[in-house]
Amino acid sequence: MAGTNRQWILESRPTGEPTMDNFDLRESEIPEPDHGEVLVESRYLSVDPYMRGRMRDAESYAEPWDVGDVMQAGVVGDVVESNHPEFEEGDVATGNLRWAEYAVADGDDLQPVDPDLAPVSTALGVLGMPGRTAYFGTLEVAEPEPGDTVLVSGAAGAVGSVVGQISKLAGARVVGIAGADEKIDWLTEELGFDAGINYKEADNLYAAVGEACPDGVDAYFDNVGGEITDAAFAHLNVRARVAVCGQISLYNATERPMGPRKLAGLIETRARVEGLLVRDWAGRFGEATEQLAEWVQTGDVQYRETVTEGFENMPEAFLGLFDGVNIGKQLVEVE
Ligand code: NDP
Repeated sequence: MAGTNRQWILESRPTGEPTMDNFDLRESEIPEPDHGEVLVESRYLSVDPYMRGRMRDAESYAEPWDVGDVMQAGVVGDVVESNHPEFEEGDVATGNLRWAEYAVADGDDLQPVDPDLAPVSTALGVLGMPGRTAYFGTLEVAEPEPGDTVLVSGAAGAVGSVVGQISKLAGARVVGIAGADEKIDWLTEELGFDAGINYKEADNLYAAVGEACPDGVDAYFDNVGGEITDAAFAHLNVRARVAVCGQISLYNATERPMGPRKLAGLIETRARVEGLLVRDWAGRFGEATEQLAEWVQTGDVQYRETVTEGFENMPEAFLGLFDGVNIGKQLVEVE
């Protein structure tokens, strides 16, 4: 297919918080799919906190991008050309593609998206990677029991909002921490969270967590790290579980954070602190999607998306993650 493609390039590596100067929008030809490949026209693209790690020239769980390369992103799009037996023109597909309007991928690396199941954008959110992270992180690591208090940081984001709802379904009392009153209202008035803490308004986070969790914390699902997590650790109960999913408050740090400082308390509580990577459950993704789709259909799990219009606004949408602009999953819709 002849025509012009637009792609976002990693122009330079950020120091501290990324800026618009780190990104460059370039035009190129629309690529041709080879044997076994599929050409996808992006409809929705995902921006995710982990991408900050890929902008760094350092080993992390995701490979660093090279300066000058097109950045990668989860994409939902329309198949416009296919040389793969499982896809045909007009299908909707998702995969880890590029910050691009058009991209080719090996058909084996794409998954079909069923538009009758839910709006196709959910394949990047509640029915996609963030939803699966919440599903496995909650059920396999945080392990909420009826009557437990579950504390969730980053609670109004893509992962955190689903963690809280799954914990409610497991019979726990759920407290969410987020950075705006509007977010706390959404959690407590619509999603069924029992209490919420706006950490930006709290004078004393330790006291705020204590007040919201009078019986202590049996499971802490950590999306943010830093001082919020220090406060959470101080309220862990005996045999508490801590699921370390993300540390967004530290992603832009220019120096390695000091710590860990809160381990002494683990002696007394015998709490378990466990990191998680969603890809470890790759063999069970189907189970998670099926269950999450059922919960979405029954209304047991609700979701929200913050959709930035226009492919040219991808960096802005990404930078907004660090300012808490998004409620629920942050997406970009190609107009
Ligand atoms: P979110 O949708 O939660 O978006 C990020 C949110 O983080 C913002 O909305 C903001 O909300 C909050 N935030 C930003 N800066 C800070 C800060 N300094 N202190 C506290 N909160 C902050 O993102 P996701 O749901 O996609 O991801 C959540 C976390 O999970 C991330 O840390 C991510 O890296 C991690 N993750 C890990 C995976 C794994 O396999 N381990 C897989 C997927 C995600 P607010 O207004 O509340 O500040």
